Amino acid sequence: MESDYYQILGVPRDASQDEIQKAYRKLSRQYHPDIAGKQYEDKFKEINEAYSVLSDPKKREEYDRGPSPYSAGSGGAGFSPMGFTNLDDLFGQFFGGSPFGEAHGSPIPRENRGGDEITSVTVSLKDAVFGTVKQIEIPTFGKCPACKGTGSKSQSAPIVCPSCHGTGVKQQIQRSILGQIMTSAPCPQCQGHGTIIPDPCPQCQGTGRVRVKRTVEVKIPAGIEDGTRIKLVGQGEAGQLGGPAGDLYIEVHVSQDREFTRKGQDLHCWLSIPMTWAALGAKTTISTFDGKKELEIPAGIQYGQTVEMPGLGLPKSEKDRGDIVVHVQIQIPTSLTSQQKELLEQFASSHDSEAGGNMQAAQEIKPKKGIFARMKDALKGE
Ligand SMILES: [Zn+2]
Ligand SMILES: [Zn+2]
Repeated sequence: MESDYYQILGVPRDASQDEIQKAYRKLSRQYHPDIAGKQYEDKFKEINEAYSVLSDPKKREEYDRGPSPYSAGSGGAGFSPMGFTNLDDLFGQFFGGSPFGEAHGSPIPRENRGGDEITSVTVSLKDAVFGTVKQIEIPTFGKCPACKGTGSKSQSAPIVCPSCHGTGVKQQIQRSILGQIMTSAPCPQCQGHGTIIPDPCPQCQGTGRVRVKRTVEVKIPAGIEDGTRIKLVGQGEAGQLGGPAGDLYIEVHVSQDREFTRKGQDLHCWLSIPMTWAALGAKTTISTFDGKKELEIPAGIQYGQTVEMPGLGLPKSEKDRGDIVVHVQIQIPTSLTSQQKELLEQFASSHDSEAGGNMQAAQEIKPKKGIFARMKDALKGE
């Protein structure tokens, strides 16, 4: 049955590409079988099908014009996924019933290209930085092993249909008020193929393909963006009776990371440091996707200022990578020992005498052995 792609995605018919993409992202996450459960597999496929048409302006235009040639099974055997290719097809469609056979008087080919498929895979942000290889199991159509894709139990080639002698068409004379008219229709014995398989394979009902679960390997390139689609040519559904396989599209989602947020090719994170580090500067280590790396915090850094760690972000080119941008958050102690309090009060009295609380003054105080160094040790509990 024809389904309304707009309804499936819950968008108005005049939705922008942006709205369609947003709706699709939301739904594909919600109904992904890995998240929502196996019972949503069909729903998920339906959403993907709707999106594959509506996201492509050309296909969308064709869809808006009339019955979708893209929805699986909508046109029956031989329905071309290319849509109407010429006027003959168009007239055949509207005036003659089947768009094939009749209009051309030639048999419908038995071999049929397999459908394209779409699936999705989620990778970590680290995988997006370095790239990875994923094995994905997809339910699809594969060549029937019992008949080796021939559709015949004895694996013999189809024979010429005795009823239509290979034309795929049966002509009939009908009486009407205009007199006798000759009509032609696809041969019922061979469904217009012009050939029959006398011993259809019971495993695949003579189609040459069966439902299988196949594991495909997909290489996720470094730097991949969330929502990117990777096309694997010929990895979709197996074709019918020796027809070419369809293509497989894999939509890659990059999961959120607990520490890092991606902005372009840079990775942003927050680092909370003691106020003494902010005032005096410090060296610390940060766990990056490249392992632990030293980070030098300059003295006098303010809340919200950033320190960059070049070359630890996502790839910009083969050799160049973005940066890690560390946003600094400064911890103000919430409880102080009496010793710490005393030291801070000493600091305050020396500090307040200069420039009315201007923090620039802190930089002028020599660290090491000074009041600030002792205060730092005290705050660290040493
Ligand atoms: Zn026939
Ligand atoms: Zn078979």
